Amino acid sequence: MTLAKGCILCYQGAKMVLFVTGRCHRSCWYCPLSSERKGKDAVYANERRIESTDQMIREAEAMSALGTGVTGGEPLLCIDRVATYCRALKKHFGKDHHIHLYTAKAPSEEDLLTLRGLVDEMRLHPPQECWEDILNSDFIRSAKRAKELGFDIGIEVPALPGLSHLIPALPYLDFLNINELEWGETNADGMRLRGFELADGVHNAVQGTREWADELLKNDNVHWCSSAFKDSVQLRERLKRIARNTARPFDEVTDDGTVVYGVLEPDTGTIAECTNHCRDELGEDCYAACGDHIEVAWWALEELGDHLAGKKYVIERYPNWGIIVEVTPL
Ligand code: SF4
Repeated sequence: MTLAKGCILCYQGAKMVLFVTGRCHRSCWYCPLSSERKGKDAVYANERRIESTDQMIREAEAMSALGTGVTGGEPLLCIDRVATYCRALKKHFGKDHHIHLYTAKAPSEEDLLTLRGLVDEMRLHPPQECWEDILNSDFIRSAKRAKELGFDIGIEVPALPGLSHLIPALPYLDFLNINELEWGETNADGMRLRGFELADGVHNAVQGTREWADELLKNDNVHWCSSAFKDSVQLRERLKRIARNTARPFDEVTDDGTVVYGVLEPDTGTIAECTNHCRDELGEDCYAACGDHIEVAWWALEELGDHLAGKKYVIERYPNWGIIVEVTPL
């Protein structure tokens, strides 16, 4: 099997996800975008909302990114923004910083010329209704032209009925990726309407979609990307990279790449008095004063309990001040 270069870096968790807009010209029933992002013209680097190329570079540095996947929404609706962000990445990290871009449009000559030298790999998402006649679609015309201009070119689609119609497109592509169909908050009604069910209670995978891909998967340059892989390898490896660069000495890094620490909100005494106590009891590396509270090695919270009264809890979150996964009161 030939994996796209973007996928190889993704396996290492080394790709930053650059979400350039939640706007899209299409309204696919299976669209996995969250309601927080769908239709909103906002930019995110990984899970962090950003407003400048500098903020993006900081996020990429925090994870020692070797590449970036540009996604949306529809990135080509804001192609100037895409060019600006990709130019900043190539300038900062060098031309070897690998960039792939998803689009549900067939890029025009002008689009391709704008992105040449900035994007290395194009991943086209032709709508399901044009799969049956894919060779006569604009997507194959774009694929041929993109190849001539030096892009790596592939198709990336969700697992839906009719995938085998895409077999004639393979000679024009470097790869074809099939994403396992995923259940989400915004497409749940569409899933139920079509009689789909979740495969298990752990992942978001929809039951029975792999068989639609069977014919296509007999070809060498076709790759199946499972929902479990996205959760348990791609995301976890990316979080671990960020945690390696950003965790404080007292943060515990879990096998999932999240960080765990304790919080003390003192009832009595000033923060300075409490930090003095922490320093004496635990040593300099085991705590940090953070405004009106103290963050501390989670295992030390109970020890402090007898001497420092207050609200105490343990936080598990994505590294580098990412989303909070769990708060456990003590
Ligand atoms: S093209 Fe992509 S972002 Fe746009 S509606 Fe379809 S799945 Fe959602």
